[in-house]
Amino acid sequence: MESHRRRSNASSVRSHKPTRPIPLEDDSTKASDALPLPLYLTNAVFFTLFFSAVYFLLNRWREKIRSSTPLHVVTFSEIVAILASVASFIYLLGFFGIDFVQSLVLRPSADVWASEDDEVENEVLLRNEDARKVPCGQALDRSLRSLPPSAPIVTAEKVYDEMPVTVVTEEDEEIIRSVVTGITPSYSLESKLGDCKRAAAIRREALQRLTGKSLSGLPLDGFDYESILGQCCEMPVGYVQIPVGIAGPLLLNGREYSVPMATTEGCLVASTNRGCKAIHLSGGATSVLLRDGMTRAPVVRFGTAKRAADLKFYLEDPENFETLAIVFNRSSRFARLQGIKCAIAGKNLYLRFSCFTGDAMGMNMVSKGVQNVLDFLQSDFPDMDVIGISGNFCSDKKPAAVNWIEGRGKSVVCEAIIKGDTVRKVLKTSVESLVELNMLKNLTGSAMAGALGGFNAHASNIVTAVYLATGQDPAQNVESSHCITMMEAVNDGKDLHVSVTMPSIEVGTVGGGTQLASQSACLNLLGVKGASKESPGANSRLLATIVAGAVLAGELSLMSALAAGQLVKSHMKYNRSSKDVSKAASA
Ligand code: ADP
Repeated sequence: MESHRRRSNASSVRSHKPTRPIPLEDDSTKASDALPLPLYLTNAVFFTLFFSAVYFLLNRWREKIRSSTPLHVVTFSEIVAILASVASFIYLLGFFGIDFVQSLVLRPSADVWASEDDEVENEVLLRNEDARKVPCGQALDRSLRSLPPSAPIVTAEKVYDEMPVTVVTEEDEEIIRSVVTGITPSYSLESKLGDCKRAAAIRREALQRLTGKSLSGLPLDGFDYESILGQCCEMPVGYVQIPVGIAGPLLLNGREYSVPMATTEGCLVASTNRGCKAIHLSGGATSVLLRDGMTRAPVVRFGTAKRAADLKFYLEDPENFETLAIVFNRSSRFARLQGIKCAIAGKNLYLRFSCFTGDAMGMNMVSKGVQNVLDFLQSDFPDMDVIGISGNFCSDKKPAAVNWIEGRGKSVVCEAIIKGDTVRKVLKTSVESLVELNMLKNLTGSAMAGALGGFNAHASNIVTAVYLATGQDPAQNVESSHCITMMEAVNDGKDLHVSVTMPSIEVGTVGGGTQLASQSACLNLLGVKGASKESPGANSRLLATIVAGAVLAGELSLMSALAAGQLVKSHMKYNRSSKDVSKAASA
């Protein structure tokens, strides 16, 4: 393995400065151009021709041997058959040639790929529900024939970009061509080559040739592709760079935190930083964790509503809880079942399991526990039909009242009293203006808009930036950003009491993207990297309180900018660069 890796590293794809545009497709005539047909039909025609001609000739020769006719005496039909077999053999050799031989020699047992692919696919299915429209790998996998389309597929016209000259070894060139022609599935490159970086480089080059589009701005080097294999991203071709800014120090529960925020929105970090300053000058914020439990809700169906109700009563009976918890908790040494909340729709039952998951965000852990319980219930309720392990009553990555009311992940409240003086000098507004704006915008305005958990100014801005920096699942910003911001004048109207209440902060410090180098560095900066050694779950709980603290700072600052009428001015300063955009683009 090691020696193989060294060899392949040495031969990996290298990029050079562009000297001249290179043609993206080979102009020379190929064997497959013999007929004006799709590639697979051309191959089928020549295969059929070859085997029919050979079969015919063998039959004729057998008859000649039987009738003692000399073999060199040939009829017109035999001449045609000989010519057809030679021509089709030349075509097949030209098309498959050495690629075919190599693929036979190098391809490992089909079972190995199948089992590996299955494992990855299962994990992806559990993690990213509803996220995918086409099967994994189909986009680049030219060997797969897609399902009959319901509407005609319009292929975008290829506009060939100017491409950097890419120098590839002969060996890599063969593989790139094999991916482009569909002989090697793109998704199998990592397992076939045993070198993730080389696989990404080859896939990227094949993609450029297939699409005619340059990826020269998307970096390939400087990333550990092994670290994402089977866990974070399939079929990588590079990585997107997002700048990370620091807001803080955020003084929270007596400790200072420098909060990493990955964003491309100008003003956001500066604004959160100003909020942190106001909180610090006022003695800091206090944050309290109210509950900690990840949820998963399968949907099961019965023949009658009565039977669905039977299971509901069984699950909600405190006498059964202990048995169910033992079965559930077998999924992990950290999983602890907290409760099951049921909802009935006719003869369908939704079982919302809630579970402590230690320092993991916990979706995998809770799903495994739920599966254990469903298997267990099947013996007492054999007529129970499990329709899906996730029935959307969970509810993951969709706005839903159940998360807003019941909570999901960590529920946190965070507060601070901002001194009147700081409101005036740092936030450049007044306590009365802030209280009035909060009532009319975050409470009344959101009620008028029919908001669900959106009683805030921009919680999702801060949540998403911190999630990206620390390796959280960014799609969970949907419910993680549920937040109600309250503002009240206190101390005889001199100071401002501000709070954010966030019932569904879904964070972890182990698993998923948290183990990647950059994200792990940001977790380290906050002192919450990995699993807590003292008390499992302490790191992820602390991270949730920091998220709420940063949201508090963000709310204070944006609301102040709005109250003071500064929003547009500051965005013009930080969000609209004075650079000449057309020059920047051409450079
Ligand atoms: P998630 O459930 O968030 O999708 P994983 O399935 O990757 O995350 O689960 C986390 C993994 O990390 C589990 O295998 C678990 O045993 C392990 N682990 C190690 N330490 C901890 C901890 N302190 N809390 C939670 N999980 C931990």
